[in-house]
Amino acid sequence: MKMLILKELFKNKRHFLIGRKLKIFLGIGIGILYLPFIFSGNLYASEMTSIQEVICEETEYQTNVYYFSAEDEGPTVMILSGVHGNELAGIEASRIFMENFHPDKGTVIFIPEANKRACEKRVRSLSPEEDLNRLFPGDLSSDGIQKLAGEIFRVMTENKVTFLLDLHESVNYYHEDPNRYGQTIILDDNAYSLLQEIGNYLIHRLNSNISDQNKSFEVIIKPIHGSSTYEALKLHDIPSITFETCMKMELSERVDLHYQCIESLLKYYKIISSSLIAK
Ligand SMILES: [Zn+2]
Repeated sequence: MKMLILKELFKNKRHFLIGRKLKIFLGIGIGILYLPFIFSGNLYASEMTSIQEVICEETEYQTNVYYFSAEDEGPTVMILSGVHGNELAGIEASRIFMENFHPDKGTVIFIPEANKRACEKRVRSLSPEEDLNRLFPGDLSSDGIQKLAGEIFRVMTENKVTFLLDLHESVNYYHEDPNRYGQTIILDDNAYSLLQEIGNYLIHRLNSNISDQNKSFEVIIKPIHGSSTYEALKLHDIPSITFETCMKMELSERVDLHYQCIESLLKYYKIISSSLIAK
């Protein structure tokens, strides 16, 4: 796997989108060196030139936004993880994916640790009142976590995001406890045919690799006010899904499922054409 990563990084002489309030890191390998590589255990220099955006700078909600853009125009997919800080699989899958990522067209925006302080403390939120996934679309003119939610939505709308994927985890399987959403793909509206199509596409791809029926995914309809996906769809007509794994499974298995979800979605939008890591 490390060899493949290295090969991909050296191939990546990329152009990155420039947005408002960007922190610019130019030079050989500088951008990629800022990505924390949990799984590789090594920092690889590369020829990649990158730009990252810092939102809520110099506040306790400061976090990074990473833009990956191909020279050829195409859809823009936004991938959120770490909205809940104790749901580790999506955060780690996003980081691994960013190491390997080489888009053929379009743009992918990652916010891997949306609620960074909660991620550092490995808690769902810093307090019960600060559940980020109930506070969207937030408020840019406010401060604190409302500002964070507002900044995430600003990134989404300013970049005219085509699709939003929000990665989460739950403490139990949905089929064991319908109040928990482990191993589901959550849609906020059943009247949106594109969401049904993408949900079914992801289910088909993911479940074809799962032999244990307990771990298979299902699509459910569950509108949650204040969630990123509900508000993106209702306020901005941006199709969105929430992806949930069950924390009863091993972390490595959950990370792999989140990785497969990201990869499958980007294949659906033809942003990538082949698997990044040989399984
Ligand atoms: Zn969550």
